[in-house]
Amino acid sequence: MALKRWLDRLTLLDLFDGLSVTGRHLFKKKVTIQYPEQKKLPSDRFRGMFRLDEERCIKCTLCAIECPINIIYIDWHNEKNPQGKSVKVLDRFDVDLKRCMFCQLCEEACPTNPKSIWLTTKTYEMAAYDRNDSLYLDIRKLTDWRAAENVKPFTVVEQG
Ligand code: SF4
Ligand code: SF4
Repeated sequence: MALKRWLDRLTLLDLFDGLSVTGRHLFKKKVTIQYPEQKKLPSDRFRGMFRLDEERCIKCTLCAIECPINIIYIDWHNEKNPQGKSVKVLDRFDVDLKRCMFCQLCEEACPTNPKSIWLTTKTYEMAAYDRNDSLYLDIRKLTDWRAAENVKPFTVVEQG
């Protein structure tokens, strides 16, 4: 055994063994990406950040009714539009995201086509320092969350 170890050291067999492993991986497709300059695109079914289309929403409150933990708060009032027709105007549309379990029942309950509220925005960067402020979404955050987060440009990397 001692002779074999001595011969291995002399011929640098261990070194070449290690280098061959490095060489094999050098030309393989990389599995890592340069986050956050590059980001992987989640699948179409991925549930991430909420989005609300205020214009499309008919203020029916079905999403709030269907939410099993009652974390959607909607208030609205009636107003006359320029044609004299009574229309509903949102006063409040809040989602307490820190308690959300991303079950998507609110999106499924929404009767508009396409949906007025949806979670499939492919956004997974929702980490925050302050739970109560950052993870409580009001109309502004729900309708303009990209601008609110000041998203920097990035390259999208397709799933491998
Ligand atoms: S995804 Fe969240 S907000 Fe929507 S129904 Fe489920 S728990 Fe409620
Ligand atoms: S279910 Fe859809 S249309 Fe009804 S209040 Fe919720 S988001 Fe608006």
